[in-house]
Amino acid sequence: MSTDFIAEPVVAIVVAAGSGSRLGAAVPKALVPVAGVTLLRRSLTQLAAGGVQQAVVVVPAETAELFDADLLDAPLPVQRVVGGAQRQDSVAAGLAVLPDVIADAEALVLIHDAARAFSVPSDVVARVIDAVRSGADAAIPVVPVADTIREVDEAGSHVIDRTRLRGVQTPQGFRRSIIEAAHAVLSDTGTPVTDDAAAVEYTGHEVTLVAGDRLAFKVTEPLDVALAVAVAGGAA
Ligand code: C5P
Repeated sequence: MSTDFIAEPVVAIVVAAGSGSRLGAAVPKALVPVAGVTLLRRSLTQLAAGGVQQAVVVVPAETAELFDADLLDAPLPVQRVVGGAQRQDSVAAGLAVLPDVIADAEALVLIHDAARAFSVPSDVVARVIDAVRSGADAAIPVVPVADTIREVDEAGSHVIDRTRLRGVQTPQGFRRSIIEAAHAVLSDTGTPVTDDAAAVEYTGHEVTLVAGDRLAFKVTEPLDVALAVAVAGGAA
């Protein structure tokens, strides 16, 4: 009998079904080019370089065909599915097709915002995968917060100790059985969450932090595209 270690497969769900209206672009945000390469393509390339073997790309129903050209010759095998009204619905749509993509119930699942991270370095992807392989229920990349943050309420505002704060990035990594169970609970209870680690935390699991990278910044507004173009060193 062979004693070779066979690592579990790693699949990514890349959610790209948001409208990206704050960007004001003519195409969905994930298809905005930066130095000639779309944000979606950049995500898929970096995920593949970091150890992801297959991807499910979740796209908006109204513009689904626009994604076909970008997904041709993708850097890894990709299945395209249509998302839902909220990000959480889009993740659920991606999770729903996992059985068609990968048989292993203990596969690693990375969930990534296509348009969120301009260029997530492959070593961030690899750190997330390593943490889950080493036993973490959920692993997320984080960065220190540069700005001083104030919490505002009806009574006024107060400063929060920023040394205790972290900005959360994607991809977020999970053991498949854990993220599937967490999303099932959210759907049954109608509980809204803003990211997938929050879903897993809601069902009683611990979240492990790994080092993110400021290059994986979120593209939300036109200034972010200009910054991405400058970092990539090319024309839009
Ligand atoms: O809008 P926001 O930047 O927070 O979206 C984060 C990610 O979730 C984006 O990649 C967006 O395309 C995705 N999303 C989605 N389905 C939605 C809303 C957002 O896939 N209904």
